[in-house]
Amino acid sequence: PVPDDPGALNVVAIRCAGPGTSVVPGLPDDSYDHDGQITKREVRAITLARLGPVPGELLWDVGGGAGSIGIEWMRAHRSCRAIAIEERERRAARIEANAAALGVPGLRVVVGEAPAALAGLPAPDAVFIGGGVTAPGMVDACWEALRPGGRLVVNAVTIESERVVTQARERLGGDLARIEIGRAGAVGGFTGWRPMMPVTQWAVTR
Ligand code: SAH
Repeated sequence: PVPDDPGALNVVAIRCAGPGTSVVPGLPDDSYDHDGQITKREVRAITLARLGPVPGELLWDVGGGAGSIGIEWMRAHRSCRAIAIEERERRAARIEANAAALGVPGLRVVVGEAPAALAGLPAPDAVFIGGGVTAPGMVDACWEALRPGGRLVVNAVTIESERVVTQARERLGGDLARIEIGRAGAVGGFTGWRPMMPVTQWAVTR
């Protein structure tokens, strides 16, 4: 219902304004409490677009880190659900705090090492692997769990993880993209491009 008090409309407009409150992925990195292990905002926006949240869908965010992927998945629609799997307790606690602070306290956090920790979780519509892709059986466990039409997206930043995804693509297909982002920063009194670590992104639909 549209409120007939114009003041109420203003309140809605103010609360929905600004980059910190947008539901479009790519929130500023400092919206999160993190220890450096976070998918940077530019890469995060590309990654969420590739995961393609649809109302009602469930995401597994494997190697949750600060939780940014699962959190922005859930912010896409109030019916979107996510489970973050993170082996380090401190980071798992941080994911819960970030989820609460960013309006999605329902994000479920599983503390444990994937792929073993994935056993028994409800089947996902999409899986993101942001850590642990070199663990034996990880890609296959995530792939097998996906329903037909489900999406798997993996971001690799090391040579070892890149090898895993390029080999997996030979078996399972999908697309590879290389994401290279630079941010402007101070170089003496001038400004220059500071390259961020390149990300190799593998995306495949089951
Ligand atoms: N996408 C995250 C950052 C991921 S950093 C974000 O945007 O916040 C990778 C994370 O994977 C780290 O926190 C690391 O502890 C976790 N990790 C690595 N191997 C894992 C495994 N086998 N099971 C669970 N978590 C793992």
